[in-house]
Amino acid sequence: MNYKTHINGGILVGLYVNLQMSNTSIISTGVFLGGAVVGSIFPDIDHKNSYIGKKAKTISKAINKFAGHRKLFHAPLMYLLLYSISIGMINDKLLLVGIKGLFLGVLSHLLLDSFTIGGLPWFYPLSKKKFSLGSVKTNSKVEDILCGVLIFINIVIVLDILHITSVFTFTQK
Ligand SMILES: [Zn+2]
Repeated sequence: MNYKTHINGGILVGLYVNLQMSNTSIISTGVFLGGAVVGSIFPDIDHKNSYIGKKAKTISKAINKFAGHRKLFHAPLMYLLLYSISIGMINDKLLLVGIKGLFLGVLSHLLLDSFTIGGLPWFYPLSKKKFSLGSVKTNSKVEDILCGVLIFINIVIVLDILHITSVFTFTQK
């Protein structure tokens, strides 16, 4: 999927999870959401023509060469391992919030990619088999619609938070 869909998926899960947490300051909310947005586009660094790949072409090319596309950098098990390691190593509270946002964003990316025709290697590197829950083609009309729906939900959540609307129950605190 393209970066617009991924960013909106990241914002959606970021907003949702943030609303579940208690006593969140504006700063920690910002760091959490920022982490989620970066995480939501990060896995595509393994593809030089992706949005993030174009921003960091040299790194992207190197990663693609040694890891391939939609393999190690799209492997849930790798991120689970990295998450466990970083959570164990970091003590700074705000940095931890950012790391949690980052991995949540990555999770949203992997989930969305699971709905593409190509699918996702859920158990890589244990198995190369890719699993697909849908048949969405990147940059297709269906993806445009999905992206539009995500943008719409995000706008409503923000309006709910600002007490302009009250559509969702999880936004009520
Ligand atoms: Zn991807």
